[in-house]
Amino acid sequence: MLELIFATNNQNKVIEVQSLMDKNIQVKSLFEAGIDIDIPEPHQTLEENAVEKSSTIHRLFAKNCFSEDTGLEVDALNGEPGVRSARYAGDEANNENNIKKLLHNLEGNLNRNARFRTVISLIIDNEYFLFEGICEGVITNEMKGNKGFGYDAVFIPNGDVKTFGEMNLEEKNKYSHRKKATFKLIEFLNNYHGKN
Ligand code: IMP
Repeated sequence: MLELIFATNNQNKVIEVQSLMDKNIQVKSLFEAGIDIDIPEPHQTLEENAVEKSSTIHRLFAKNCFSEDTGLEVDALNGEPGVRSARYAGDEANNENNIKKLLHNLEGNLNRNARFRTVISLIIDNEYFLFEGICEGVITNEMKGNKGFGYDAVFIPNGDVKTFGEMNLEEKNKYSHRKKATFKLIEFLNNYHGKN
């Protein structure tokens, strides 16, 4: 069985990723691995932040691991909040304030096109690999649903009429950026014969 540490403290991400994993891959969150650390996301791209998180855990614990960074890219806002999605509302940043700022900045704008983009950084046997997953959709005018997390309540994936916030995990996984990136990771791992 391949054991991988998922370098995140976001339990929602852990639940989503663990729900997708094959039986032959055991994913342990930082909490489950007994690691108490808050890893900064100081960079200007999702790729660099994802690598920062996985390489921090790899440097400290020398374990195979992966991490992910996700951003919401809104066309009418020139790709914002993007890599700054978690900190969009500045000092007051939390899910509610981030969404308020987003809806405010889009008020009256008819172009609601946006995408979630997830980048996974895997480090296995000291080698680095990246996987990307994108979900295209639109930003609603108001929040709908209280499932999920982050910006889920204001994002409708193309091909559906419900926000992610109105979907259970199985429904969200039909479209999800994180699912697409995770499936690429799983496919890679299933074909990986490693150095061990
Ligand atoms: P990070 O990847 O933890 O930096 O997340 C960036 C921001 O996007 C945070 O505000 C998260 O809550 C939000 N976010 C990340 N993934 C999702 C998602 O799947 N749905 C909605 N919001 C998300």
